[in-house]
Amino acid sequence: MSVMSRGFRSLLMGELLSGMGLTLRYFFKPKVTLNYPYEKGPISPRFRGEHALRRYPNGEERCIACKLCEAICPAQAITIESEPRADGSRRTTRYDIDMTKCIYCGFCQEACPVDAIVEGPNFEFAAETREELFYNKERLLDNGDRWECEIAQNLEKDAPYR
Ligand code: SF4
Ligand code: SF4
Repeated sequence: MSVMSRGFRSLLMGELLSGMGLTLRYFFKPKVTLNYPYEKGPISPRFRGEHALRRYPNGEERCIACKLCEAICPAQAITIESEPRADGSRRTTRYDIDMTKCIYCGFCQEACPVDAIVEGPNFEFAAETREELFYNKERLLDNGDRWECEIAQNLEKDAPYR
C-alpha cells in the first residue's frame, strides 16, 4: 500500500470503521465464552476432581480397608486405619487424604477393587486455609453421598475403556 493511500485511509478512519464493522458482525454471532460460574462447560467422565468415598445402595460403605490405595499413592497423601467389626467384616476407622499433597494422578481410584475411592467431577473445592484441605472419612463419605449420581454415571460411561 502506498504512502498516499495509507494516509487517505487514515484520514477517513478506515481502520476504525472496519474494526467497528468486525465488532458488529461478531455481536450477533453465538457467544463462545461462558458466563462462569452460572454456566459451565462439559467435562470428561474421566475428569479427576475432588475425592469421594462411595457407599452401596443400602448405605453400607464400599471400602473394605484393603489399603491398596494407601500403598499405591505416590504422594503418600492417604492415611488409613482399620479394625474388624463385630460381624467379622473389616472397615476403616480412619480414612484421611491430605489434599495439599495429592497430585490427582488417579492411582487410588484405579487400585480400588470395589470402586470405593473415586475422583469425582467436582472441581470447585478451593479453600482459604490448608486445614480445610485435610479431608477425613466423614468429609469423603459426604462427598460420595452428594456426587453419587454423577460418579456412577461417569464410571458407567468409562467402563468399556477400563
Ligand atoms: S489421586 Fe494420586 S496422589 Fe491423590 S490421593 Fe489418589 S493416588 Fe494419591
Ligand atoms: S478405598 Fe478401595 S483401595 Fe482404598 S482401602 Fe478402601 S477398598 Fe481398599
